[in-house]
Amino acid sequence: MNKDELGKIKKKALADHIPIIMDDTLEVIKERLAKNPPKKILEIGTAVGYSAICFTEFLDEEGRIDTIEREKDRVQEAKENFKKAEVENKIKIYEGDAVEILPTLNEKYDAVFIDAAKGKYPFFLKESLRMLNKNGIIFADNILYKGYVMSDYNKHKQRTAVRNLREYIKQVTENPNLETEILEVGDGLAISKQHF
Ligand code: SAH
Ligand code: MG
Repeated sequence: MNKDELGKIKKKALADHIPIIMDDTLEVIKERLAKNPPKKILEIGTAVGYSAICFTEFLDEEGRIDTIEREKDRVQEAKENFKKAEVENKIKIYEGDAVEILPTLNEKYDAVFIDAAKGKYPFFLKESLRMLNKNGIIFADNILYKGYVMSDYNKHKQRTAVRNLREYIKQVTENPNLETEILEVGDGLAISKQHF
């Protein structure tokens, strides 16, 4: 991977106000994947490809990433960024709404990174679990959503998002196959490990 290019991609994404993964969140994911480098990662929400490029560093040598993005312009920019960072052979991007694309996938993944429409997190979880390998791990970014999720204030316009993020937390914590932690890094990160 080309680190100079990664720096430029990050800078431009921040200047363009793209909500890329935060450094502390990335650090935690790196630690969690270090012991057992994944062979396949699924990412929901590519944006311009910054996090996917970063994740290539955590992959097994033969590892690959599938990532989904619905905005055409972002897909285009992500593809260019993958080339610039010299990781285009490791990442496959699907263009379209993840709600439609996920049910068409029939792969097995060792790790999933959920980072797209907050109102769809319970659906993304269901699809992720369907494709998650034994001992797989699911990371859900923005799970605390600026503190709204853990507060009782319920009347802002993000109500649907907040309700679905709470539903996601409920489902992962109540699922007997998963061991879940909610961390206050970045905008909140849920880590759910499947233990069989
Ligand atoms: N993971 C990226 C940031 C993703 S921002 C990074 O850290 O670098 C969230 C992205 O998800 C946006 O680009 C948005 O267009 C996309 N998105 C939101 N809902 C989606 C959906 N239902 N299907 C596909 N993409 C979606
Ligand atoms: Mg995010």
